[in-house]
Amino acid sequence: MAGIVEGVSPEIEKLLVIQDRDKRLIQLEHQLARIPVERVEIEERAKAATSRLEELKLKAKLTEAERKQLENDVGSKRTQIDKWRSQQVLTKKNEEYQALAHEVSNAEKEIFKIEDKELDLMDRSEKLAAEIKAEQKVLDEVNAQAQRQKETIVKRESAMKEEIEKLKAERVTLAAGVDESYLSRYERIMRHRQDVAIVPLQHGNCGGCHLQMPPQVVHLAKRSEEMVTCEQCGRILYWTGEYEAASPTALR
Ligand SMILES: [Zn+2]
Repeated sequence: MAGIVEGVSPEIEKLLVIQDRDKRLIQLEHQLARIPVERVEIEERAKAATSRLEELKLKAKLTEAERKQLENDVGSKRTQIDKWRSQQVLTKKNEEYQALAHEVSNAEKEIFKIEDKELDLMDRSEKLAAEIKAEQKVLDEVNAQAQRQKETIVKRESAMKEEIEKLKAERVTLAAGVDESYLSRYERIMRHRQDVAIVPLQHGNCGGCHLQMPPQVVHLAKRSEEMVTCEQCGRILYWTGEYEAASPTALR
């Protein structure tokens, strides 16, 4: 594990390795925690497609029912017309004959109107049938995709759990080799910060909170004989040599 960063103390170097594992662990735990959300999202997409299809099917059913109703209306009007025609044949009064003829003519006009509406409804039914077919195709694709995504998630989930177990075991071994005071300090900061606990000095600034460090702190970090922490965020600081290269006169 030699020389992750030139010139840092062995304890810092070991902690950097642990931190690397811990960062990955945090990332994996976050991804794992998101899996139930992903599952819900997949179900929601499939549900949305199903309900769009059901809505179209309902519209088609209502349209068909409406058309049937109109067909019945036409049927009963025709029956009525037949009755009036029979009465016409039997009547002897011209006035009554004319009145019946008038009724028949009105009813026939109404039948035309109803049949126009029926044609409109048939048009609508045809369009709906095409929409249903298209939506069914979408639903099939969404379902197939959902199935694939669920399978992928199962694989991802078990791969992540496996990696977490491996990292945790590896971490136990790594932690055993670190000075207790460094390790406990590191773990306390990590629990609190949930991102990084050891940061490099960047041009004299804390690599975690970016506060400018006093020259004394930079100096101590450069000597790397003791643990140096940021006075603002508490993170452990280490020297990378960058500061010196960037401004050779800033530190004496
Ligand atoms: Zn800081």
